[in-house]
Amino acid sequence: MSSGLFLARRDDLAPYLSDVHFEFRENVHKFLEKHADPDYIRACDEEKRFPAELVRAVAEQGWFAVNLPEEHGGVGGVLDMVAMLEIIGYHSVALARYWNMNVNMVGGALARFASPAIKQAVLPALAEGKTFFAFALSENGSGSDAANLTTTARREGDDFIVNGTKMWITGALQADYILTACRTGRGATPHDGISLLLIPAKTPGIAIVPIDMLGGHAIRTCEVNLVDVRVPATQLVGDEGAGWKRVMTVLAKERVALGAMCVGAAQAAFDLARSYAMERNQFGRPITAFQAVSHKLVDMQTRIDASRLLVYRAARLLADGKPCSAEASQAKCFASDSYMQVAVDGVQIMGANGYCSEFAMQRHFRESKLFQIFGGTNEIQRNIIARDILA
Ligand SMILES: Cc1cc2nc3c(=O)[nH]c(=O)nc-3n(C[C@H](O)[C@H](O)[C@H](O)COP(=O)(O)OP(=O)(O)OC[C@H]3O[C@@H](n4cnc5c(N)ncnc54)[C@H](O)[C@@H]3O)c2cc1C
Repeated sequence: MSSGLFLARRDDLAPYLSDVHFEFRENVHKFLEKHADPDYIRACDEEKRFPAELVRAVAEQGWFAVNLPEEHGGVGGVLDMVAMLEIIGYHSVALARYWNMNVNMVGGALARFASPAIKQAVLPALAEGKTFFAFALSENGSGSDAANLTTTARREGDDFIVNGTKMWITGALQADYILTACRTGRGATPHDGISLLLIPAKTPGIAIVPIDMLGGHAIRTCEVNLVDVRVPATQLVGDEGAGWKRVMTVLAKERVALGAMCVGAAQAAFDLARSYAMERNQFGRPITAFQAVSHKLVDMQTRIDASRLLVYRAARLLADGKPCSAEASQAKCFASDSYMQVAVDGVQIMGANGYCSEFAMQRHFRESKLFQIFGGTNEIQRNIIARDILA
């Protein structure tokens, strides 16, 4: 049973996970089987509806606290996060993306770099799932070349005045705060003079407009316009002008998390293709009897297994505080390419039903593509890996 294989106390993960982790994974799986059933997930995607009930239910379990510092209500560490995200990705890519952006990215950045006052004000509420965030780095003119950003934050007394437009901001509609990368100065390189401001999303001068995308509909991607937005200087996260290094730290952690979600989501796509193929008869036999189909399934599961090992290798290094920039990029890059390939093959195996809204495979086909683009495109990941192996 493929799903059982996925959840069992797999020997290949024993070097990384303890019995407590495996028990946690099983609890998350059982809970999401109940609260993230396929009809609900499909309806949220089709209706572009935020899965508020699911987010609330998961927060009530205390799972928005995972990997946050204990002194601010957090529990567990990197391996707990990865073990959990793989299972969440299996059930709901939308929930996994939302969790990652809130807790791993913004929560993680605040836990490391924010002032004690900011931490106290927002982290315990995040751990309880009562305060939500977005992370605004990208702009129209600066995507992969993110340091080229032009949103400005000009000092005026005790405040900053922020002007600019941020693009593709995940979850901005639900956010209470937007962690925003702004230019507060200029230096020798574009990386100098970037600062991070935690801006309350309801501040006058902010307009948030959802953008129609190919996938990821349950968590809308938004344009965020900022016109003369007044933000107290106390909302600075980290030192003024030193934001770029902070951003890099956030992105490195994100890559491992994205890899974990891709492994779970790809496993779900595989399980669907496998069970469909075993039941579908053509020419008087199940289509798995055709080697063209069975070999596809073999390659799909092999890619997923290899991705999983790359993800847990990077997670272990990250958890141990060891350098793992290349390993994190390998995990994100290979796992997202694998998820995309599994979805492409999954649609092919299911024929017209793979292309039909009734089945989840078409959603995997759309959602897998975004993992090759965000969190640093896979070309940028390959640049990072090349720098490491060619040094
Ligand atoms: C669904 C979704 C959600 C997102 N959420 C957020 C968010 O919450 N916050 C946020 O700040 N951003 C977000 N993004 C933006 C995302 O981070 C950017 O899309 C990504 O960094 C790529 O930038 P770009 O789209 O401008 O592509 P570009 O940078 O214009 O790249 C175009 C192509 O050129 C290639 N390319 C560019 N430079 C190089 C190079 N040096 N070497 C090789 N190839 C190169 C790229 O790989 C790509 O194939 C999101 C994007 C999507 C799709």
